[in-house]
Amino acid sequence: MSRFNISPLKIPKRLLMGPGPSMVADSILEKMGAAPVGHLDPYFLSLMEEIKRMLREVFQTSNEFTFPVSGTGSAGMEFCLVNLIEPQDKVLVGINGLFGRRIADLALKLGANVQTLEVPWGESIEADQLKKALDELQPKVVALVHAETSTGIRNPIEELSPLICQSGALFILDTVTSLGGIPVFIDRWGVDATFSATQKCIGAPPGLSPVSFSPRAMEIVSKRKTKIPSWYFDCLLLHGYWGMDRIYHHTAPTNNNYGLHEALRLILEEGLENRWQRHHNAYCRLKKGLSELGLEFFTPDNRRLSQLNAVKVPEGKDEALLRQKLLDQYGIEIGPGLGPLKGKIWRIGLMAEGAREECVDKLLVSLEEVLK
Ligand code: PLP
Repeated sequence: MSRFNISPLKIPKRLLMGPGPSMVADSILEKMGAAPVGHLDPYFLSLMEEIKRMLREVFQTSNEFTFPVSGTGSAGMEFCLVNLIEPQDKVLVGINGLFGRRIADLALKLGANVQTLEVPWGESIEADQLKKALDELQPKVVALVHAETSTGIRNPIEELSPLICQSGALFILDTVTSLGGIPVFIDRWGVDATFSATQKCIGAPPGLSPVSFSPRAMEIVSKRKTKIPSWYFDCLLLHGYWGMDRIYHHTAPTNNNYGLHEALRLILEEGLENRWQRHHNAYCRLKKGLSELGLEFFTPDNRRLSQLNAVKVPEGKDEALLRQKLLDQYGIEIGPGLGPLKGKIWRIGLMAEGAREECVDKLLVSLEEVLK
């Protein structure tokens, strides 16, 4: 043993039912445990092509430039914004939680003229509100979060996107918590740029951020007046690697890509619609069980995410203590509230492998015990 006296890791088994990361299928972990091949090995290049093909299907897009950025969801967010936003651009950001706020903060760092459409945490952004903001502000870019993980709210993109398309603004959509869990239609909705993450409803560990740029987004990048203010996220350089030229840019995290490949393969084997339905079924079971326990949702029925459930902490209960008990006694992780919702809600994730009736039942039984 070295003088540091450190033992090998003994990683605890958890049932992850929080806001992510989510449970990962064994076959994904198996693939990720294989020895790396070179990131320019012909085998890896063909695997990259399959990942791109499968991602297009999962995003429901024909965008050629669809690939996983190396990094977590925030890396994909940064990728979209550094390429598409120039100083002084008027950018309208919809904010109803932490992640809309993060997009606005990032756009400010890029020198954009940021305008916000803010609604209270726990409410959704609605078509009449967006229409008014678009008419008043005439933004060049609109950025929205589809599934606001901090509150469990779904913004109704099917109703908001036609307004953005009519306005002619470039549309950036955060699909971090929606992709693979609820319907996402990048082409049908006229989304120009989107970013997601592997550790939510895709069901792989964190580390990659699938992104997709429309031909219009690529054209906007090519016509920039200013340089892209990033080297790592420069989409033209990344296109050199993920496109057909295969020019070295950075060393792609091979094993994360093995995992993503298997996760996407499993999604397509299950079928997108079956997967969305499975997430919904798990939600229905949770809803019934929570009501039997006398617990209430924080979010309204019609805009509630099936994969991320914000539940009110019962009056007088110490939410952190109960969460700790769930983890210590039952090995189950659920999430706390963030920002103004700290101490007031729990966030129960039903994502990927966690969106199964047996997981919901285990959580409900354990929750009943800790609430006694
Ligand atoms: N956007 C949303 C909606 C998220 O839920 C998250 C993370 O939870 C992010 C962006 C940032 O992703 P990451 O934590 O993987 O960087």
